[in-house]
Amino acid sequence: MKVKINKEKCVMCGSCVAVCPEVFEMKDDGTVDVKAEYQNIEIQDDMLIEKIKQAQTACPTSAIEIEE
Ligand code: SF4
Repeated sequence: MKVKINKEKCVMCGSCVAVCPEVFEMKDDGTVDVKAEYQNIEIQDDMLIEKIKQAQTACPTSAIEIEE
């Protein structure tokens, strides 16, 4: 699966970072994004996929977009 954050929906609450810090990060300017090493790549690790789905559930604005 691939994951990205819809910047127009993200309110930078940090929930996804709290749930899955392996994949999501808060930048110095306060914006939140998928870490560079996970952008536009097919993520196959089952544990990471599960955590990304938990982060998606935790996101208050449905900003996390998953492509299966
Ligand atoms: S949980 Fe959603 S709104 Fe909050 S920082 Fe992550 S992507 Fe943005």
